Amino acid sequence: MKFTFVTLFSNLVKGYFQDSILKRAIDKDIFSVDYLNPRDFSNNKHFKVDDTAVGGGAGMVMNPQPLFTALDTLKKQEEDIHIIFMTPVAKPFSQNDAKRLAKKSHIAFVSGRYEGIDERVIEEYADEVFSIGDYILTGGELASLVICDAVSRNIDGVLGNSDSLSIESFETPLLEAPSFSKPKNYEGNCVPSEYLKGNHSKIRTLKIALSECKTKFFRPEQHLKHKITKR
Ligand code: SAM
Repeated sequence: MKFTFVTLFSNLVKGYFQDSILKRAIDKDIFSVDYLNPRDFSNNKHFKVDDTAVGGGAGMVMNPQPLFTALDTLKKQEEDIHIIFMTPVAKPFSQNDAKRLAKKSHIAFVSGRYEGIDERVIEEYADEVFSIGDYILTGGELASLVICDAVSRNIDGVLGNSDSLSIESFETPLLEAPSFSKPKNYEGNCVPSEYLKGNHSKIRTLKIALSECKTKFFRPEQHLKHKITKR
């Protein structure tokens, strides 16, 4: 698997792969990451990549030419590439998307900056568009990283223990039960006593009950749906 970040500011992305789980996965050749700067493809003598908006409006918009040339180059190198644009107006990215995308061989994330990307680029090249939430970031780099992180932990071999994937929140209708670590009693705050007694069937029952409570509290609509489908 390969991830290509199409961005004007690759330094914003690079640091994320220099530590922890994703660095280990890159060191083990489970996936690789590279970068493509649209500015390097600009025909403008000053390597400009943006201009004022046609029809008026505040701020600058990323020009089509550098992105058309950059993405054509990428597609010529690999036909099988899956190109994803980051945009706050798209459908929100989800865990199901993360699992589906983990089966691709090459994903390119295109990050907008300024007031965004000329719509013609998105229409021409997007295999998919995603938002990471209903708020506006200064650019798509963080959004790309969020998606790349969520996708890559679903690639075989990235997580030390793949069991952790199947019991997580969003894998089932209920959120994951609360987790506790040692010590059992931290300054008077105790873990639920049932967790300590070693009766796995009782622990499982308690965890399901706690999952229900957590889902009802944090995601009441999801809990309602779960109750209806259980009937
Ligand atoms: N003018 C645009 C609008 O109102 O829809 C927002 C542009 S935003 C300042 C610049 C870039 O950041 C976007 O092109 C997109 O790539 C990225 N971006 C901002 N918020 C995002 C979000 N919630 N999800 C995904 N990408 C986002």
